[in-house]
Amino acid sequence: MINERIQDPNSLRRTKIVATVGPSSQSQDMIGRLLGAGVDVFRLNFSHGAQADHAQVAQHIRRQAGHHGRYVGILADLQGPKIRIGGFADGAVMLQAGDPFQLSLTIAADAGDQRGVAVEYKALPDSVDQDDILLLDDGKLRLRVDDVSETTVDCTVVVGGRLSSRKGVNKLGGGLAAPALTEKDLDDIRAMPGIEPDFVAVSFVSSAEDIVYARQLLADQGLNPAIIAKIERAEVVADTALLNSIIDASDGVMVARGDLGVEVGDAQLIGIQKNLISTTRKRDRMVITATQMMESMISNSVPTRAEVFDVANAVLDGTDAVMLSAETAVGDFPVEVVTAMADAAVGAEQHPVARTSKYRLDREFSSAQEMIALSAMYGANHFPSMRGLACLTEQGTTPTMMSRLSSGLPIFALSRRSDTLQRLALCRGVIPLFFDFTAFAAQDLEARTIEFLVDGGYLSRGDYILLTMGSAQGESGKTDLMKILPVE
Ligand code: PGA
Ligand code: MN
Repeated sequence: MINERIQDPNSLRRTKIVATVGPSSQSQDMIGRLLGAGVDVFRLNFSHGAQADHAQVAQHIRRQAGHHGRYVGILADLQGPKIRIGGFADGAVMLQAGDPFQLSLTIAADAGDQRGVAVEYKALPDSVDQDDILLLDDGKLRLRVDDVSETTVDCTVVVGGRLSSRKGVNKLGGGLAAPALTEKDLDDIRAMPGIEPDFVAVSFVSSAEDIVYARQLLADQGLNPAIIAKIERAEVVADTALLNSIIDASDGVMVARGDLGVEVGDAQLIGIQKNLISTTRKRDRMVITATQMMESMISNSVPTRAEVFDVANAVLDGTDAVMLSAETAVGDFPVEVVTAMADAAVGAEQHPVARTSKYRLDREFSSAQEMIALSAMYGANHFPSMRGLACLTEQGTTPTMMSRLSSGLPIFALSRRSDTLQRLALCRGVIPLFFDFTAFAAQDLEARTIEFLVDGGYLSRGDYILLTMGSAQGESGKTDLMKILPVE
């Protein structure tokens, strides 16, 4: 059901786009162009760049969003305990299969050579055993562990290649578990009031406590962003109870295919992505699918068909958002890649799998709000003249719940709160619009809501819209009314 009267072609797209900001995209002008191309959430990657630069980019984003009259989110992504090798005296070495190579806690940070290199992660010798496989540089090189002492890990190169300074280290099967929040992360959290992110992503989460702790630290800074748990440890996806507890503690998850893929292998990742997306949605949380979605567009102006299908597949799996990393951060075609991703998403959304509701018949509702949200969605999906759902919302809970069900109908989230609207920018199928419904008398509210959506080009005469609201206007979490309104 495509509404050709909607003026902005991007408002037809339900799947959201997260774009990482970096040297290729951090200028005010480029942020504006990316917004125009359809970015819904900008990701600030704290693995790179200074705090002051991220604060500057955040200002550009808010200013450009204002110019465009759009509500877009800012996601601050903490580095977390990514384990890295130290530096090489010559910048890099060439390792051949069969070479001995040592990871050491004692050699100087930048004194690596052909024989070995430093690792800053003190627990490494305790976390590996003989015959474990270590993966360097996102799995491009493989080492087998031969011998472990208190301060050294002696290995043999299994798959060689060029190894340059400060590349990442993963263990096949997972298990290099450092605490999820490092000193650097704590320091970056202290800088968050200068950014006011809508989302904060915690990397290498290993328990629900990591999420609770991050939330507390942010609250200490006077902030209440949505917390995204990055799922990128093999041991987390191997333990359903642990995974579910992490999902429940967070507001959303990221299928962090970069590190996870290295630890579990890409073949395993296919099923993991599908399960993680459906589990997350069933548990009323949001989900982002990330990493190497259109990797070739770092240096090419068009994607490969395989990349188009990778994006499409995530859309059919039910993801809320698809993410761009290096493509927009350091790539040569940041605007083109956003457009290509948007096109792939819209293409996939035409398939019935992406539009048909799978009503959760097996589940009881836990609140009146949930009953309204899901009944509304179910009803609207089965009523041919229904043009969309309009939710008068304070915190965005009702539209978030609605968007857990697949549909071809837009969910108009109408709120006076910019924090709510910016957070809803990540929710599939939700169009966040500023609308201060508290300014109207109760008896005018329905007419004013319809008028607002007609003026915006979202509705026209003969349509129906399903309205949800709270009978106690302006109170959070009180949606208890649903009404079917004809547009006259
Ligand atoms: P990263 O996280 O880009 O911060 O490593 C995402 C991933 O691992 O896929
Ligand atoms: Mn990662």
